[in-house]
Amino acid sequence: MVLGVRPHGGYSVVWDGWVQNGVLTAAAAVVGLRAYLVQDKRLDWACIAAGLALYAIGNIVYFAYVQYQASPPAPSAADIPWLACYPFLYVGVFRLARQRGAKIDRLLRIDSIISALGLSALAMTWFTVTLHGTKGSLAAVLTTMAYPVGDLLLMLIVVGSLAVHGWRVDRVWAWLGAGLGLFAAADTIYAVRVATDSYQAGTLLDPIWAVAATLMAIAAWKSQSSIPRTRGNGWAVLLVPTLITVSALALLVMAGHGSGSLPVRVLAAATVLAGLVRAAFTFHTMVSLVRNGVEARTDELSGLRNRRAFLEAVERRIAAGHGQFSIMLIDLDRFKEVNDSLGHIAGDDLLREVGVRLKARMRQGDVLARLGGDEFAILLDNTSTEMAREIGERLRLDLQQAFVKDGMTIYSDASCGVALWPDAADTVGGLLQRADIAMYDAKRERTGTAIYTHADETDLSAPLRLVDELRTALTDNQLVLHFQPKVGLRTAKLEGVEALVRWQHPLKGLLAPDDFLPQAERYGLMRQLTTRVLTLALDQISEWHRAGFDTTVAVNISVSNLLDLELPDQVRTLLEVRKLNPACLMLEVTETTLMADPTRAAELLSRLQAIGVGVSIDDYGTGYSSLARLRELPVNELKLDRSFLLGISRDPRAGAIVRSTVELAHSLGLKLVAEGIETETDEAILRELSCDLGQGYHLARPLPADELLSWVLKRDSVEAPSPATATDPSSRSDQRP
Ligand code: C2E
Ligand code: MG
Ligand code: MG
Repeated sequence: MVLGVRPHGGYSVVWDGWVQNGVLTAAAAVVGLRAYLVQDKRLDWACIAAGLALYAIGNIVYFAYVQYQASPPAPSAADIPWLACYPFLYVGVFRLARQRGAKIDRLLRIDSIISALGLSALAMTWFTVTLHGTKGSLAAVLTTMAYPVGDLLLMLIVVGSLAVHGWRVDRVWAWLGAGLGLFAAADTIYAVRVATDSYQAGTLLDPIWAVAATLMAIAAWKSQSSIPRTRGNGWAVLLVPTLITVSALALLVMAGHGSGSLPVRVLAAATVLAGLVRAAFTFHTMVSLVRNGVEARTDELSGLRNRRAFLEAVERRIAAGHGQFSIMLIDLDRFKEVNDSLGHIAGDDLLREVGVRLKARMRQGDVLARLGGDEFAILLDNTSTEMAREIGERLRLDLQQAFVKDGMTIYSDASCGVALWPDAADTVGGLLQRADIAMYDAKRERTGTAIYTHADETDLSAPLRLVDELRTALTDNQLVLHFQPKVGLRTAKLEGVEALVRWQHPLKGLLAPDDFLPQAERYGLMRQLTTRVLTLALDQISEWHRAGFDTTVAVNISVSNLLDLELPDQVRTLLEVRKLNPACLMLEVTETTLMADPTRAAELLSRLQAIGVGVSIDDYGTGYSSLARLRELPVNELKLDRSFLLGISRDPRAGAIVRSTVELAHSLGLKLVAEGIETETDEAILRELSCDLGQGYHLARPLPADELLSWVLKRDSVEAPSPATATDPSSRSDQRP
């Protein structure tokens, strides 16, 4: 009874009739107006407005018609619009929930199913108990029950949406949730009162529906902040589905003791089943979340942390602030020789073993990572200069111990560079750069371990000086290209050339790519360098065309080029300016480069292919690209790494590997090029294995442009071109340092 206002119980025409109906109708109109005026989430609020309007119509029917009936039937005419309001409310609330800054995902769906089944089971149990012995037709009982069950489902959507957002409530959901909650509460109390024959009009219960509708109308006009997607946000998310599943389990146990109707048992069993499915999905999600996080921070080869994880660890350490620590960079000496002479598998084994040996020496708080290639890094916690030097020497002693693998003994050594925080630098980048400088000093001076001092910088240590000189080289035309022929193994015809960069250093003479490309990559000069190489290569092609020599050129590109989204446009312009057919250019990308970011690489390669430029996978077989991946990549050619040719004349297994690679390439519609053909036997075997093209010192060394032309002319003048041409003294001009 509303105090002071409703001294008498019973249906009040003013309060329960006019006022209530007025408020309900107004609420529906306010929500409808919002849907009409505001474009955002229009349909959602239109549905809710329709739901409220139907509810108001139900009330009006009751007021204008049902209450005048001598003995109102159950269900009455008012029940039709009342019940019809639910589907509209569901759709509206569900759409709002879905747009709450996140998609309703699989887990939320399962949670809603669990909640729906479980709460229905609980509600049914409760109703069976409450309505036990109630008189009235089945239709009457069902109708009375329909309201709280309908509200329950509405609440489930609200609760589900809140659960999935880690129980964070924004203004819209606070008002809407409160409104729907009041609705549900009022319906439930009403149902119980009706069932127990204790309902009386004119109590505090009656205005609750109008209040609930008002809250929803307010919600409609609150602005909804988008909540960032958060899942697995603590255990709170799991609380509701878990509680419901446990309750359903309890119902099942009780049912086992004879209580509970068949529908209740079925619902409870279904809830438990859905709970199990939920648990399985949760487990799967957690595992894959953990796995993804770990994978992104793990170096695949060594199982150690990767560069990203290392940088994060150093950043955290810097943020922690106190004490002293240092960064040590360790670079293996002569690793490339191991790779080149014993093959990449032996190289990989060596790197793994190095990882194991370094790890064995780590102390509490130290962080070990492989940054890439043969470069490892350690964050040495609480270390002075002297301690760092000592540790470096100890690690080097460990690495100098022979590595024995499959009867092979490999000796290795390393150079270590140390930079102390905060003396050397106070940022991650600064520390790494200083450690790098120290490491190059150690390598150059063969001192094993070097500690960075600021004197190193005034002296512009070797790598930095080299980078400086390289900057000049790029603008001063010191870069030159040598061209190595690619020859058809069956036809013996020249099928194209590969452009290989050299640096005509004013003091040091002709430098090979290995002497400066790593620094160019590391110090951000690679884009500029590639532009220069592309320009030189295409200029050369134009010149040859004018001289009546038609051929195609392959240019190598690196990791930073693959991240350069402007590359395709740049390539197109370079070709257009020279009026060259795009098919005269092929870009070579090494397999490891591709695998650094396969998705991005695939996108860029597609754009290049769309221009009409060819794409080749270089050093194929040194990375770990899967067949499936290759199929997805837009590629025209595979270049088999020269390590595959090692021992091919003696070992039939080596031949079998090449044969299967040829078959794979052909089945994918790709040409196969064998790199590093050094002998006539190699050439004969590869021809036998149906390899399409060959490249190698036996066919021709990389040659300066004019010498290449003479090489071609000489071949053409010889009737049947013989590989011996390559041993012509002119073809040895590539004096590799
Ligand atoms: P790559 O693209 O695989 O080029 C083939 C390398 O193998 C060349 O070394 C070539 O001289 C060498 N080679 C050719 N035939 C034989 C042979 O029969 N036996 C042996 N042992 N080696 C042979 P180079 O010129 O020193 O280039 C090394 C790498 O540097 C290239 O490998 C390529 O990845 C990279 N590179 C060269 N020029 C450029 C460039 O302009 N840009 C970029 N990003 N990388 C380049
Ligand atoms: Mg290449
Ligand atoms: Mg290669």
